[in-house]
Amino acid sequence: MRTVIYPGSFDPITNGHLDVIQRAARLFDRVVVAVAENDSKTPLFSLRERRGLVEQAVAPFPGVEVDTFAGLLVDYAQRHAAQAIIRGLRAISDFEFEFQLALMNRKLNERVETIFMMPKDTYTFLSSRIVKEICRLGGDISAFVPPGVEAALKRKLLPAVQPKKRTAAARGRSGKR
Ligand code: ADP
Repeated sequence: MRTVIYPGSFDPITNGHLDVIQRAARLFDRVVVAVAENDSKTPLFSLRERRGLVEQAVAPFPGVEVDTFAGLLVDYAQRHAAQAIIRGLRAISDFEFEFQLALMNRKLNERVETIFMMPKDTYTFLSSRIVKEICRLGGDISAFVPPGVEAALKRKLLPAVQPKKRTAAARGRSGKR
């Protein structure tokens, strides 16, 4: 059984992440999407919410599981008998950090390989951060995230539409109090 871990913050999961997950699922028997608990970035969604959104998004894909993790990724990978870690590479800008991380993980555990996958070209500009920004500004994010994530982002970021209060003038016009 070939197992791969796909770790990340997934704050929230996007169609770019899903593209990488589907590619990995074609190569491995089991893909464990591991939502990071010890996130130094302050996430918008709680760990529970992030996990729930990933679970909903990957439900149609066989061989894909969801879990959360804290601590060293290589230790987590070893506990799951995983042969490899998948990371997504969007652009050259991702490369330097990912290269450093992969080599450090190799130092920590020689047996766990890091594999890089590139998403479909239309997702190369996509990041959780930019999707949150567009949503916050009222833009259309339906092409970038699964429907459950779009709804969750709107609930979190867009102020609820308040029912309009009837003004005194309106009350006067209708004659009602
Ligand atoms: P992290 O905080 O670990 O970077 P992310 O959730 O932002 O977590 O990303 C997890 C992994 O998915 C990283 O390897 C990242 O480069 C990759 N990734 C993020 N967005 C995309 C995308 N649009 N296409 C391909 N890979 C992506």
